[in-house]
Amino acid sequence: MKHFDVIVVGGGHAGTEAAHAAARMGARTALVTLRAAAIGVMSCNPAIGGLGKGHLVREIDALDGVMGQAADRAGIQFRLLNRKKGPAVQGPRAQADRTLYCRAVQAMLSAQPNLTIIEGEATDFIVNAGRIGGVILGDGAQITAEAVILTSGTFLRGLIHIGDRRSEGGRMGDRPSVPLAKRIEAMGLPLGRLKTGTPPRLDGRTINWDILESQPGDDDPVMFSFVNSAPFVRQVSCGITHTNERTHDIIRENLSRSAMYGGYIEGVGPRYCPSIEDKIVRFADKTSHQVFLEPEGLDDPTVYPNGISTSLPEDVQADYVRSIRGLENVRILQPGYAIEYDFVDPRALRPTLELRDRPGLYLAGQINGTTGYEEAGAQGLVAGVNAALSARGAEPVIFSRRTSYIGVMIDDLVTRGVSEPYRMFTSRAEFRLSLRADNADQRLTGIGRALGCVSDQRADLFAQKMSALEAGRSLLDSAQFTPKEAMARGIRVNQDGMRRSAFALLSFPDVRFAQLRDAAPELAAIAPEIAEQLARDALYANYIERQNDEAQAIERDENWAIPDGFDFAALQGLSNELRGKLARSQPQTLAQAGRVDGITPAALTLILAKLRQQQ
Ligand code: FAD
Repeated sequence: MKHFDVIVVGGGHAGTEAAHAAARMGARTALVTLRAAAIGVMSCNPAIGGLGKGHLVREIDALDGVMGQAADRAGIQFRLLNRKKGPAVQGPRAQADRTLYCRAVQAMLSAQPNLTIIEGEATDFIVNAGRIGGVILGDGAQITAEAVILTSGTFLRGLIHIGDRRSEGGRMGDRPSVPLAKRIEAMGLPLGRLKTGTPPRLDGRTINWDILESQPGDDDPVMFSFVNSAPFVRQVSCGITHTNERTHDIIRENLSRSAMYGGYIEGVGPRYCPSIEDKIVRFADKTSHQVFLEPEGLDDPTVYPNGISTSLPEDVQADYVRSIRGLENVRILQPGYAIEYDFVDPRALRPTLELRDRPGLYLAGQINGTTGYEEAGAQGLVAGVNAALSARGAEPVIFSRRTSYIGVMIDDLVTRGVSEPYRMFTSRAEFRLSLRADNADQRLTGIGRALGCVSDQRADLFAQKMSALEAGRSLLDSAQFTPKEAMARGIRVNQDGMRRSAFALLSFPDVRFAQLRDAAPELAAIAPEIAEQLARDALYANYIERQNDEAQAIERDENWAIPDGFDFAALQGLSNELRGKLARSQPQTLAQAGRVDGITPAALTLILAKLRQQQ
């Protein structure tokens, strides 16, 4: 029997991040997955990042994870979304070459010390006195460990739908994970059913690109990883086309044949990633929807038509796709489909992603009701770090909403649960002015270094960057301008006689660093990328100061820990409904209790009084 510190089940985006993180932390780690060759496969769209999601990738990278590095290596088109808006809501996105992405992930895992990859199906858990102590594989082999992380994605009792045709599968071409799903059910974990879908894949050689609009990447591509500065491979453009009234008529006429509208699917789908059938029904007045034609690789003719995922039968898919401009003669390489799968209600988890009632078992990724590679990867990292800490008997780490999108997501999941597949948006973060994609390293690399998941090499680069930022900041603070001097440089300020530092002037949205450098030549010592970062920091400095009061209030409440087994039912003065909600979500801090749906300040006061009594 083999023994490891940490076992990770599943080689998707959560699993690879979890295994790499645990191994970086020094834990002897095994990654058990159905097919080693499929490690890092992108089940759906060949793209990483976007709004909110790009923030998560930057945070994974700041903690020295896999996803940002792999996306940079595989990126064939980089775009910074919302470029015209403020940096707080800008999201880096890259379209990836599928094969290169897998290769990059697999190369990073192979190069990582302490990490063993085992091909096999986990079918059962080893349980010692109520604690999960390993897994049993399909061939009967037993592997023991201090902690197990389950990241089985869409595979638990996965059911693929194309029209009225159903087949079992974890995704197209992969078998589902059924014995483990049954085992989880028998353990009494709260299970639900969700669904997601994917569009048909097209043969790019049969698309009439000449008549279509083309969308190139950015002229100055922005990388995901803080340690990379330029793309690794050739860059390509996407095509843009649109559905039309004929497309919509075909879909409308055949709605009852779609798995979704024909009543074959019970799971709830992602509202923000609707199928084309959903769009036609929900936005009935729209006569056209945009479709991005995204190449799946540099040496691969496959094209992913982003925006038309479907569960309609194959003949209808062919008809509606060919009604779209530029796709009149297109060949479909793989039909679109919907997939339904089991998920576990994430309110059963601690913020470390360990199950409250099953110590030693952590869950991460789509199994927790999320959707998306980035959400999965970020959870994997949290579970990997915490499982490694637990294996060596160290205190867990909890990521706060104040310092990361990772913290926002985990807190949302464990306190509110999900009613549909959860995806990240910038609007979910109340402190989004400080939680920017550009400063993820400033927020998290130090924390990661202290935890032990950040390499010496990255820590050195980070230390150099931080001292350059500090030196730059002090130059900007010492360069002072009177209102007259500022006006002379074209900077409009109140003529109030007050001197302002160059840093303060940079907080004006229309002030450029170059204007200040012309007036104060000593600022030329600041490297351009450091100056850009300081300008972003300056832009939000005043707002962030105001946000700090609120952040401190949350911090105070986060410091009030609610002990395990706290009897919410015994709280006098709370309605039965609120008592029930608190008992179900088992908040672990007063701050988390405050975020449970419907909890009022008065209810919090009651909990606080009880906590004080118990001190
Ligand atoms: P996965 O990437 O699914 O990986 C699961 C891994 O677990 C696999 O390696 C599998 O082999 C392994 N595994 C499972 N069971 C076992 C077992 N018992 N033993 C050993 N190994 C096991 N995301 C979006 O953001 N937008 C979309 O529109 C979208 N559409 C999708 C459409 C489809 C059809 C599918 C399948 C997925 C879609 N996704 C979409 C979701 C995206 O693919 C997932 O969010 C992401 O891959 C989840 O990562 P994960 O690591 O949790 O799981």
